Amino acid sequence: MWREGQKMSVRENLGHVREQLSAACNRAGRNPEDVRLVAIAKTKPVDVVREALSAGQTVIGESYVQEFVDKAEAIRESVEWHFVGALQTNKVKYLAGKVALIHSVDRLHLAEEIDRQWAKIGQAVDILIQLNLGHEVTKSGADEEELEKLVREIAQLEHVKIKGLMTLPPYLDDPEDVRPFFRHLRELARYIDGLGIAGVEMRELSMGMTHDFEVAIEEGATLIRVGTAIFGARRPKR
Ligand SMILES: *Cc1c(COP(=O)(O)O)cnc(C)c1O
Repeated sequence: MWREGQKMSVRENLGHVREQLSAACNRAGRNPEDVRLVAIAKTKPVDVVREALSAGQTVIGESYVQEFVDKAEAIRESVEWHFVGALQTNKVKYLAGKVALIHSVDRLHLAEEIDRQWAKIGQAVDILIQLNLGHEVTKSGADEEELEKLVREIAQLEHVKIKGLMTLPPYLDDPEDVRPFFRHLRELARYIDGLGIAGVEMRELSMGMTHDFEVAIEEGATLIRVGTAIFGARRPKR
């Protein structure tokens, strides 16, 4: 018998999230194929990641470097790994060649180290610029005032390709209150796009999590990062 709070399977959760994704696209007159679901598996064990893969999920996001390395080694299935967490420069080397997209680039120094590590393997990596739109001191992300300068500098790096923007807005109880942040991210992307900087694309907007991804889709998200709704609640890390 089902009771509130009961754990559903990852497969059922994924099905539900995909339905919500489609419904939000319908409301916004968007094609569901233009929104990709990144399943955020941080703190969750390898077997639940496998469950998601066997249910057809292809993109998995991680937030902690060591945990990512361990999982990527354990999982032999083909996975499109995304890195979404705060990234220390000295750990970039562990990601080189293993992740398809880094959502969380917020400073030149970090981009330069990514460039250096991917240069070593003769490849380039796609990245997003993370913005801290709520000006929260506890969160990573560049300030929007420095966005244009940062994009122009990173655009010079040969092994780093800017594909769009990411944000992690303040947590607000009513997802409607987060809408202005998502809308603003889209406007910033349009502004940067209009500058026509060589090698810079603004086709991805990574925004929206369990609590607010439907609003994010209505505001143009192309990548939603959903953890809890797929894998269940997380225990606080350490
Ligand atoms: C953990 C995390 C998410 C997923 O959050 P949920 O609320 O569990 O969906 C998304 N983005 C980033 C950057 C995260 O660290």
